[in-house]
Amino acid sequence: MSGPIDERDSTWINDGQMGVQVRQGRTTTVGSMEVVRVLPTKGRRTIGGWCFVDLMLPPDVDNPKPMEVGPHPHIGLSTVTWLFEGEALHGDSLGTEQVIRPGQLNLMTAGHGIAHAELSSRGGVHGAQMWIAQPETTRHGPAQFEHQASLPHLDFANGEATLLIGSYDGTDSPARTDSPLVGMELDLRPGACELILHPHFEYGVVPIDQAIKLDEDIVEPGWLGLIEAGPESIRIEAGHGGGRLLFLGGEPLGEKIEMWWNFVARSKEELTDAWRAWQMHDIDRFGPVPSKLARIDGPRPSWVPDK
Ligand code: MN
Repeated sequence: MSGPIDERDSTWINDGQMGVQVRQGRTTTVGSMEVVRVLPTKGRRTIGGWCFVDLMLPPDVDNPKPMEVGPHPHIGLSTVTWLFEGEALHGDSLGTEQVIRPGQLNLMTAGHGIAHAELSSRGGVHGAQMWIAQPETTRHGPAQFEHQASLPHLDFANGEATLLIGSYDGTDSPARTDSPLVGMELDLRPGACELILHPHFEYGVVPIDQAIKLDEDIVEPGWLGLIEAGPESIRIEAGHGGGRLLFLGGEPLGEKIEMWWNFVARSKEELTDAWRAWQMHDIDRFGPVPSKLARIDGPRPSWVPDK
């Protein structure tokens, strides 16, 4: 997935407010696909290491728009692909070709550099494309891809969860993590439940199909309910239809990141180096991708003068 170009999205500062905050998502397009961008959002760039959350909308059954994202590069982040409907083929410069279906996790960690492409197999897809910023300790390291077809399930009084990545209440996902975090899909039945929180984590709750009540606030599908670090639990209430939601959290990153296009770095120079390497077909950094789709050129960064 291609990320934010807008420079408003390029730096972040935590505002340090307490309690639950609610932010609306905004609709944008990635290729021919409409998405709801949940993160980054106004005044908020990261939740733990999570730095990018796009929701791919449910396909229009009469006119499904395929997910067709040609070869493009990433640095300094892990991409988390999670589908609710449909299936997609991932190909990357490590030579991976992997079909992903609902309930399975594709986790691609870029480190110093990777390139990949994504193509929905038939019809459209409904799901989430998320990024996790890598910490200083691993962001210059080698790229890696993993597919997790079998993930831990957790039962709550009021629903169940699939643990995509990280840890929750003593259960660990088999997926790689570079920083302390959690990513879960929660499927709630009507009614309220209390979720245990790690007091050192900040969290984002993203309803997918139904509005939910987070503590005292209503959070609509495609919106973000933010919970700052501190509380040991939070009350989530689903309405008559229950609700599916993403529950993301982590230890605050504690590093100022620079985010531009498909790159997460720490400076404009690093972003420029990665952009040049992609534009110049530097195959040592971004190798060839097994994909029939056209390669996506990077836009010239606004801070790089036009020759
Ligand atoms: Mn991508």
